[in-house]
Amino acid sequence: MAEPWWEGPGGMELWFPKWAQNGRVRAACFGRSGGVSEKPWDSLNTGFHVEDDPARVTVNRMRCTRVLGGNLEDWVMAQQVHGQQVVRVTAKDRGRGAFTAADSVPGADGLVTNIPGLTLGILAADCVPVLFYDSHRAAVGVAHSGWKGTVGHVVREVVSVMKQSFDTRPSDLNVYLGPSIRQCCYEIGSDVADEVREEFGSSVLIPSGRIVGTPEHFLLSLQACIRSDLMDCGVPEEQIEDVGQCTACHPNHFFSYRRSSGRTGRLVSVIRLVRED
Ligand SMILES: [Zn+2]
Repeated sequence: MAEPWWEGPGGMELWFPKWAQNGRVRAACFGRSGGVSEKPWDSLNTGFHVEDDPARVTVNRMRCTRVLGGNLEDWVMAQQVHGQQVVRVTAKDRGRGAFTAADSVPGADGLVTNIPGLTLGILAADCVPVLFYDSHRAAVGVAHSGWKGTVGHVVREVVSVMKQSFDTRPSDLNVYLGPSIRQCCYEIGSDVADEVREEFGSSVLIPSGRIVGTPEHFLLSLQACIRSDLMDCGVPEEQIEDVGQCTACHPNHFFSYRRSSGRTGRLVSVIRLVRED
């Protein structure tokens, strides 16, 4: 496993795209270390909806802001329903989903904004967090893309809403795929495989004979699907960066829903335009 791009205070690990070092945008995907939550959420759980102590989740999120800058009051989180709705976030949305999941942006799996200072966040534990940055128009976006969101083309929808909202050209987009379950570990049944094949063809699937008596299983690369969608939209391949870290392979670094049979924390990925003042 590659070393984290950066290790913050208290052993906090984070991965961030190369383009997030230009001073105009801050973006990072946090690992599971450096927080205050206890098992099975140890330790940097940032999800309020997984039965962890909400006070600990708040402390964990504040630790993230300490590393990344900004305030928790400026976070905006999507409800994340495994759909493909993308919402343009404005100043009135500031703080939605920051201190409780109850007021997160309803029905959304993607958020976009061009307002400096607002921090867009995505929670995941195997699903792919995707970060978007339009360097030309100064706009950012996030998406939550598990298999349902991927088959529903949520990343295409982010590109589309950024085009409509900010006049974004896909050729100006930089995109980052964060830590998520990869083809080595992501086994799916034939029903899901059929839906995936319909949208992306067979090249994103490898037949898997790992479960005795159930030959119709496959290993899926969500990352290949997402990359394919982005390139179809006109995002240049060299501007798509993939962190290459499998959440299920590395339990010391990441939460994995699959590996923990659903009882675990959530990793947070965030992006923010830097305020120019
Ligand atoms: Zn793996």
